[in-house]
Amino acid sequence: MTALPSSSARVVVLGGGLAGTLAAAALGPHVREVLVLEHDAELPETPAPRPRLPQAAHAHMLWAGGADAMEELLPGVTDEWLAAGAHRIPIPNGMVSFSPAGWYRRSWPDTHYLIGASRNLIDWAVRGRVLRMPNVRLRTGVKVCGLEGDATRVRGVVLRDARDERHLVTADLVVDATGRGSRGTRWLRDIGGPEVRETVVDAGVRYASRRYRAPEGAESDWPVIHIPADPRQGRPGLVATIISIENGQWHVSLSGTRGAEPPAGEALFEEFARRVRHPLVAELLSRAEPTSEVSLFTRTANRRRHFERAKLPEGFVVLGDAATSLNPVYGHGMSVAALGAVGLRNVTRRTSVLAPGFAAKAQRAIARPAAAAWMLAVGQDRFYPGAVGRRPTPVDRLGSRYIHRLNHTAIGRGLVVRKLTDVMTMRRPAHILGLPDVLLAAALGARMPLLDGPELTPREREVLDRPPLRSAGTAATGPGK
Ligand SMILES: Cc1cc2nc3c(=O)[nH]c(=O)nc-3n(C[C@H](O)[C@H](O)[C@H](O)COP(=O)(O)OP(=O)(O)OC[C@H]3O[C@@H](n4cnc5c(N)ncnc54)[C@H](O)[C@@H]3O)c2cc1C
Repeated sequence: MTALPSSSARVVVLGGGLAGTLAAAALGPHVREVLVLEHDAELPETPAPRPRLPQAAHAHMLWAGGADAMEELLPGVTDEWLAAGAHRIPIPNGMVSFSPAGWYRRSWPDTHYLIGASRNLIDWAVRGRVLRMPNVRLRTGVKVCGLEGDATRVRGVVLRDARDERHLVTADLVVDATGRGSRGTRWLRDIGGPEVRETVVDAGVRYASRRYRAPEGAESDWPVIHIPADPRQGRPGLVATIISIENGQWHVSLSGTRGAEPPAGEALFEEFARRVRHPLVAELLSRAEPTSEVSLFTRTANRRRHFERAKLPEGFVVLGDAATSLNPVYGHGMSVAALGAVGLRNVTRRTSVLAPGFAAKAQRAIARPAAAAWMLAVGQDRFYPGAVGRRPTPVDRLGSRYIHRLNHTAIGRGLVVRKLTDVMTMRRPAHILGLPDVLLAAALGARMPLLDGPELTPREREVLDRPPLRSAGTAATGPGK
């Protein structure tokens, strides 16, 4: 272990979700004690749902960059996911993706991966490892309702317990990891702290998700099936994704931007899947059995609170969705939280949590990966009809045309596939797409022709060749029916 510049410090983490537990993993080895405060009455000891994680009902892709970051903070966590039934899906060859430029090839070597698992399983393994750290404690059933301190330093938090009694909890460092609904900016104002600027880009995305029992023979080693939208078409964007998760299940998420939101209920779920740019997802679903209800989620705006630009009091840092929440269709939220936690850990190794300037340094480190994911998301979301936020500028249009050119080139040029995958999986920052080797490759274009359909293995084709369990237009109306 490194020297302990903050060894007497006491940290309080607000929120026991992924960002909160990863913050505890990052700080635990460097401070005296970490106390995690969570509103849910309890956090399950198994990979089970909990009330304040409603997004767990939706498919979550954990890209290599985020998974590597979690493994760095919590060695062994990947093996724990896999032992519990998660899949390590190779990328790009384990992904059947119909980019706006055409079908991606799968003959490239696997340079990256993603973890296919339910959100409940991902969080459970992370939480278990963190709570086994000797100086990390969890207090559930408490709602944080404000900060204690002034414009120069945060000294703790005020919470309400299950009996609605108020308590003060003191801390040398408070980490806000309370997610999308964070009140952090208001809490800062209440103690005389700075105004924090907020940027919102909202394409009005609605999610509808459901679990299916995978067809026989498709329970494992099954590719991610991904039909993304094309933001250049001036029409609402529809997306459909199937990811293999534990227990032989497929987790299926469908989404649509403003004007093409997926409907509630089961009757129209598979019909909506047929309306995306290619019916492959719908064809596969008609050969699988639903095992859950349809769940909806609508709070999907890209929202960036620029804490890193504000003159924050000492002793206060914000991580995860509380700082930057993203349209989920790009699958970057967990990775941003994990990479931010690694940034926080790295600052803590060099600078005492108690030293002046710690919070500002840590917040800048947290903001770096978030800024990269933000650019990727809003660079597309601004183009959808009815999107709320700044309209696309000529520079945005140029950027969008360049990304399309890269997508097109990636269909037939390995170097561009690798670089795009580096960025998509958050292993490397987006600026690598502007380096000379990529610019040159984009100018030269694809070396191989476009594909006229998805590249499927004989086993995948055989599943598609089976007779459907339901014909098109017939609803799968209930779990197991
Ligand atoms: C539909 C959907 C699909 C998604 N798909 C993906 C994906 O494919 N890949 C990906 O990487 N990301 C995805 N995301 C994003 C991902 O879910 C988030 O980025 C991630 O959950 C952020 O973690 P967090 O800990 O910051 O917030 P949360 O997970 O929201 O956790 C916040 C925690 O804080 C607690 N809390 C809140 N307020 C208080 C309070 N006042 N006092 C005490 N505790 C409090 C809550 O109870 C909760 O436990 C998706 C999100 C959605 C909505």
